[in-house]
Amino acid sequence: MSAHPSRRHHRRRHAIRRVAGLTLAVCLAVGAVSFVLHRKQAVPGASAASALPDTAASGSAAETENGLLTAAQAQALLDDPRMVLVNHTHKLADGYTITTKKCGSSTAINKDLQTEAADAFFAMQAAAAKDGVDIRMQSGYRSVDYQTKLYNNKTQYYRDQGCSEADARAKAATIVNPPGYSEHATGLAADLNTPEHTSLDEGFEDTAAFRWLCQHAVEYGFILRYPKEAEAVTEITYEPWHWRYVGPENAALISQSGLCFEDAIAVLQKLAAGQSVTG
Ligand SMILES: [Zn+2]
Repeated sequence: MSAHPSRRHHRRRHAIRRVAGLTLAVCLAVGAVSFVLHRKQAVPGASAASALPDTAASGSAAETENGLLTAAQAQALLDDPRMVLVNHTHKLADGYTITTKKCGSSTAINKDLQTEAADAFFAMQAAAAKDGVDIRMQSGYRSVDYQTKLYNNKTQYYRDQGCSEADARAKAATIVNPPGYSEHATGLAADLNTPEHTSLDEGFEDTAAFRWLCQHAVEYGFILRYPKEAEAVTEITYEPWHWRYVGPENAALISQSGLCFEDAIAVLQKLAAGQSVTG
């Protein structure tokens, strides 16, 4: 019992990522097929993972070529608004509007999520509570104006440390995304905490809440957005507290693939463009 459960989890993810790209791509594609076929009957909050084997047994590959996702199916996944990619190089679309719901007290600020994600959060929080685990929302939807304030504060901190303007901005961007480039502006990102650990730092991974999330968040449609082993791809320092809602079906296939969100989107884009994903 020397290994911490969450560390074992990460090692497993890392091991999966080291497998040849072909295996990952096929895994993602097959998972996506399952998703497509299950979409009509999917129940919000239901365990997509438990539904996948049934689909695999029903001969879902008949709709595809060699079990791979068709370009149209991949495009449908990319068009799913819950799969929107926002990062350093993908700015939130102008005019992006959402309907939000509070995930904290009525007076709490920045604790809202998009309505579907908020409902999923409440279901997840209730399930965790049944297991004796207390999961709280610390920060959800942030307006672009609020993100501007956070980013400017962090940049000033590095200026005060003696960094050049360019260095201060670059360093700040590794911790707080610049305005318009924060996933929190989508209303689909949730910084979670627990009463035993309320600060947003790596210490969160040593909590029962984090261990529970690693086991169950995917069932409610949330994925760990910035895994430790994916820092080079996400360009965001490991954040055990930051979870992203993509919907239970999408979360299941991304989790199965072992890919981080950026890599999963990249595979889907290749498939949608009719390109080989075996390279
Ligand atoms: Zn966050």
